[in-house]
Amino acid sequence: MHDFIVVGAGIAGLATAELLQRSGRSVLLLEAEDKICAHSTAQQQGWFHTGALYAALPSSRYFRQLVGNLDDLFNYYGSFPNMNLRSGRTLLTRNSAGWFKNSNNYYFYASPSNPEIKRWQKPLWSLATLRAQTRLSWFETIDFTRELSPQIKFVNFSPNLSRCLSNRNFNLNPGIAGKIMKSRDRTFDADCLMADLLNSFLTCGGELKTNSVVSEAGRRSVSDQRSAYKARHVIVSSGHNVGNLTGVRTKVLKSPLLVVKPAILDFNFAWMTIDIKNTFNHMYHCSDHGGYSLIGNAVYFDVDETVDEAAVKQRMIEKARKIFDIDLSGHSADLYFGIKTEIVNNGHLRNYQYHIIDGGEAVVALPGKMSLAFSLAVNVCRHFGIDPVTDAPSLDGQGPSAAIAKTEHYRRSAAMSHTNAH
Ligand SMILES: Cc1cc2nc3c(=O)[nH]c(=O)nc-3n(C[C@H](O)[C@H](O)[C@H](O)COP(=O)(O)OP(=O)(O)OC[C@H]3O[C@@H](n4cnc5c(N)ncnc54)[C@H](O)[C@@H]3O)c2cc1C
Repeated sequence: MHDFIVVGAGIAGLATAELLQRSGRSVLLLEAEDKICAHSTAQQQGWFHTGALYAALPSSRYFRQLVGNLDDLFNYYGSFPNMNLRSGRTLLTRNSAGWFKNSNNYYFYASPSNPEIKRWQKPLWSLATLRAQTRLSWFETIDFTRELSPQIKFVNFSPNLSRCLSNRNFNLNPGIAGKIMKSRDRTFDADCLMADLLNSFLTCGGELKTNSVVSEAGRRSVSDQRSAYKARHVIVSSGHNVGNLTGVRTKVLKSPLLVVKPAILDFNFAWMTIDIKNTFNHMYHCSDHGGYSLIGNAVYFDVDETVDEAAVKQRMIEKARKIFDIDLSGHSADLYFGIKTEIVNNGHLRNYQYHIIDGGEAVVALPGKMSLAFSLAVNVCRHFGIDPVTDAPSLDGQGPSAAIAKTEHYRRSAAMSHTNAH
């Protein structure tokens, strides 16, 4: 009998199974598909969050949780050779190849005089911008984040930065960007991260069964189409399917992402304004078939809602045109939707944190963000009274990357030609 059965091998199940197995427990990881990480984890944007996206919110909860996630990343994953993030005076990547890329993510906060911000919203928005600025500055001065306080810098819109951005063909009108803050967010190399976690899981003796569609999950037993399995504990991390398997109330949402090739820019930014639906972000990805842009916004639909995809795509292209002030007709653009599962709690409209729920039956583990998988795994171990092991096993080669689904943006960008954005 295994110590744990983990249902669902997206990033949540994979990270949880890996850390439990590395910490000396025996784990059976069951996945419905023939490859792991083929659902939400394949659809995400590749943005590794360090807290800056939530710095302007009235509550500092999400911001602090993402900073705590960095602590967990350093403490429990720092000995993986490909974990290339290093903290010193600032947070940097040690070399170019590894789990994270080294390109910074800039936050452009709309000026209160921007026409998007109505007169009555101006004081609110000024306050939010100041809050973001203050929180990011705390990182420089106060050690409330333990050893990681210098991780995010805040800079004014200086002539140097302006020159540096315009040299890179970034045409954002300085008149509409009130404040520019430089964060330590960056992009993931998801393939590399997931291959290392899977490699570690298997090297430590973990067992993975793919094509295992779990239909029942109790506190100590699980059934798929072939067998029934028993374990001391069951963890359900089946993403969109958590509600069906456990009765925990979830909402499943979808949000569009636009792949643009060739890339519009070679760096990352988030355009922040008072109406969250008007925010906009750009992640640059570079792959073996060239660079491409991955553009997102905070527009969410219910997963079952019928959406006019052509209209959504057109709106995103228009927005990109407005923000970049460039003609996209020389680019190809392809739209897809990413899926996100959230816990329904206390009437909060959205939540951006990880959840570990022990409702009497199987324990539910949802990451909220792929970025939070590190803290999720560490805290699942602690939930069961297990002290997670800090050292990674020595790993041979690249790991079983054929068992891992390619990201949706990689697959779509590989299939795209550079002809027309329409
Ligand atoms: C548009 C969009 C962009 C995003 N971008 C980012 C980003 O840039 N950075 C970031 O940090 N986060 C991002 N996220 C959030 C991130 O994608 C998710 O939080 C994360 O991938 C969820 O991982 P998961 O393991 O819970 O789910 P999943 O990856 O969906 O994994 C669940 C697994 O369970 C399996 N499963 C389901 N049912 C069963 C069953 N009955 N039996 C066995 N297995 C089963 C599935 O096949 C799947 O493999 C984004 C979300 C959206 C919507």
